[in-house]
Amino acid sequence: MDRVYNFSAGPSCLPEEVLKECAAEMLNYNGTGQSVMEMSHRSAAYKPIIQDAEAMVRKLMNVPENYKILFLQGGGSTQFAMIPLNLGTKYKKAAYIRTGVWAKKAAAEAKKFITVDEIASSEDRGFCYIPKVEKIEGDYDYAYICFNNTIMGTHYEYIPDTGNIPLVADISSCILSEPLDVTKFGVLFAGAQKNLGPAGATVVIIREDLITENPLPGTPTMLSYKTHVDGESMYNTPPCHAIYVVGKVLHWIDRNGGAEGMLKRNKEKADYLYNYLDNNDFYHATVDKGSRSLMNVPFLTKYTGEAADAINKKFVKEAAAAGLVNLAGHRLVGGMRASIYNAMTLDGVKALVEFMKKFAKEN
Ligand SMILES: *Cc1c(COP(=O)(O)O)cnc(C)c1O
Repeated sequence: MDRVYNFSAGPSCLPEEVLKECAAEMLNYNGTGQSVMEMSHRSAAYKPIIQDAEAMVRKLMNVPENYKILFLQGGGSTQFAMIPLNLGTKYKKAAYIRTGVWAKKAAAEAKKFITVDEIASSEDRGFCYIPKVEKIEGDYDYAYICFNNTIMGTHYEYIPDTGNIPLVADISSCILSEPLDVTKFGVLFAGAQKNLGPAGATVVIIREDLITENPLPGTPTMLSYKTHVDGESMYNTPPCHAIYVVGKVLHWIDRNGGAEGMLKRNKEKADYLYNYLDNNDFYHATVDKGSRSLMNVPFLTKYTGEAADAINKKFVKEAAAAGLVNLAGHRLVGGMRASIYNAMTLDGVKALVEFMKKFAKEN
């Protein structure tokens, strides 16, 4: 069977080159006579795999020496608890910006442990933009943003100035899609399954002064950053195979121009799609210009109400039959969503736009 163009929001498509490398090494990795899936994480064969993945994150994201890089489990969602448990220890208070589902979930989790001030929100217009918060001040242990909102399709075009307050950002759906100045942040985290590899590994980049010996009372051992820093991401069994694939994806990014190369590639794809969305009378993008994600592109048709539901279903079904899969929008936004992460090709986006033109004509 031919491969499809996969527009899934996550887990999502991976570079074909990487999948082929993994397949070639499946039964016998590097002369060990074993698959990486079968290896002890403490073995001499496995150690260089995790060390290389870490070194590649450091290289590609230009992570300074005073930051640790961790590979954890539990997805982005576990970070929603780890952040307040480890960072919310002095004022027991943090500032959150409400920009959609993932930002709301993060704030709701933090509220279990500390006081949360939601200092800005874009809920008034269904989260179709990023609120402009130039400066964040106050007695906060940290400020929290979701840098790319996977469901709403919004993305920060600026980094809020938080002065001495550590800025925490969820970059699950935009990690390494563009250059990012790590020094502006206290903690960055991302589940791998959107832009970096398969589900199961979560990358955390944390400034050393934020790694505390004394998280909030009752913090489970596994939810303390110190545990994983001391254990070099091997306090317990890490997601060995996921980290191995992440390493391969990182090398693929490196071969393709690093973060700069990804931005160029992603801008080309996103511009192609938004340009079509903005210049036809059948579809339209849901997000304001100036807040648009390069990774997740939700769009609606001119139909409303029940007619819209019917046309959306028809679109998704006929697109799938044409080899363009996972285009259903999130139920909160409706319509369709094309996730065009790093691994999606310009050819894939062009095929989508061709299909959209044909569908518009027929409907
Ligand atoms: C997918 C996603 C999450 C949740 O990630 P899990 O790994 O499923 O826990 C969190 N934040 C953002 C921005 C996401 O896109």
